[in-house]
Amino acid sequence: NIFKDGLSKTRTAFVEKVEELITRRKKIDEQFYEELEEILIGADVGVNTVMQLIDELRVEVKKRKIEDAADLQPVLSEKLIELMKGDDHAGLRMAPSGITVILFVGVNGVGKTTTIGKLAHKFKSEGKSVLLAAGDTFRAGAIEQLEVWGQRVGVDVIKQQSGSDPAAVMFDAVQAAKQRGVDVLLCDTAGRLQNKTNLMEELNKIFRVIQRELPDAPHEVLLVLDATTGQNALSQAKLFGEKSGVTGLVLTKLDGTAKGGIVIAIRNELSLPVKLVGLGEKMGDLQPFDSEQFIHALFA
Ligand code: GDP
Repeated sequence: NIFKDGLSKTRTAFVEKVEELITRRKKIDEQFYEELEEILIGADVGVNTVMQLIDELRVEVKKRKIEDAADLQPVLSEKLIELMKGDDHAGLRMAPSGITVILFVGVNGVGKTTTIGKLAHKFKSEGKSVLLAAGDTFRAGAIEQLEVWGQRVGVDVIKQQSGSDPAAVMFDAVQAAKQRGVDVLLCDTAGRLQNKTNLMEELNKIFRVIQRELPDAPHEVLLVLDATTGQNALSQAKLFGEKSGVTGLVLTKLDGTAKGGIVIAIRNELSLPVKLVGLGEKMGDLQPFDSEQFIHALFA
């Protein structure tokens, strides 16, 4: 299971504690539920999702007449998978023919550039031609950082100087992508998400420029979230995710956090699919998300 190594910290913080609770208390009683609730909240599953989960567990435990805590684990996994159900098997939406355009949005430091680099590598290794657009013209060093990834992966970066209009960069990038007949154009954007209006305005302008050139594009708008920020990632997803043209989520740094429970909260509380997860800093550390695999990896 691809998630197994990357989730070791969450497993320690969450599953090992559940196992300890089960062995120690043996019986499912009020005290058991209370402690389970604490563990889940500690793993950043989030209060709303935890309450829902505990309620559902109570119903299930009654229905199946479970008394032994040891028998709870499979029910817990089952319920967690149910909570996370949705269209997360969808994968990335690709153009049926011609150029696929994927936009990346998210606040600074969440791992946008790294994700673009990793995804460029993935597409390249599938034999696709890739071009990167340095649309974060705002943050110092953002363009150079994308170029470093471009060199590492062996793909070109379309850029203008720092401070220029990101929509102009996108225009250039789409032109270049057309001329070169590339398969995939991955576009970085500035992480100025302090308020929704800024994001919407900037994105709208970028959308218009891209759509004028390629009516079907962008094919995905991925909001990148840093899993190590736990509940903050959930708030960002709520704030920017559902109304700004975002089509999917990328959760980065799952390897570096004990707060992996945030994935469960995000899947349960939002209708947006988690398309990719970052499980390390290296090129290959990006995986398509699958909630069943995720839960099985946790409880493996
Ligand atoms: P950006 O500002 O959103 O473009 O963020 P960056 O791509 O520069 O990433 C910020 C930091 O997070 C860098 O040090 C990356 O190496 C690190 N990073 C990004 N993704 C992951 C991940 O999945 N796992 C780990 N451990 N680190 C990551």
